[in-house]
Amino acid sequence: MGNERRAALLVVDMLNDFVLPGAPLEVPAARAIMPVMRRRMDEARQAGIPVVFVCDAHAEDDPEFKIWPVHAVKDTLGAAIVDELSPQAGDLVVDKTTHSAFYGTRLEEILKENGIRHLTITGILTNICVFFTAADAVMRGFGVEVARDSVAALTSDENNFALDQMAKVLKVGVI
Ligand code: ZN
Repeated sequence: MGNERRAALLVVDMLNDFVLPGAPLEVPAARAIMPVMRRRMDEARQAGIPVVFVCDAHAEDDPEFKIWPVHAVKDTLGAAIVDELSPQAGDLVVDKTTHSAFYGTRLEEILKENGIRHLTITGILTNICVFFTAADAVMRGFGVEVARDSVAALTSDENNFALDQMAKVLKVGVI
């Protein structure tokens, strides 16, 4: 990945409303990837690589709720990062309201302010927010890799298709 100082680890939507059993948009496979994600996050912190959480934070009447069940309403427990992956001092948290971590957020500015040009993307769902965030990052000129052991979707078919699309279409490195 070149100069590690210019990389960041993105952690997408590891929120109670996506991860906990019975949550409105539960992704059961998300719970299985948490130990590996924790290890990646610890390794990044030790290497001085910023850990950036990007988190759904919807208004109560967000248009997205016409499509999806109500989830991750800003400042509710459902919108909180799961306890097992709680941010630590020095981590960054960026709220988002769409499938892309870049759309309508300060993420690009924050990354550029920190000289970051490479992203390792982890989190959920592989075929939704991870996918659209990867696409947006590539279009903005970032080097992107996705960690296969640290992403999850509702089905393995969706997971595999999204990884395949990212590799073939976006030329994202699937590691
Ligand atoms: Zn959402």
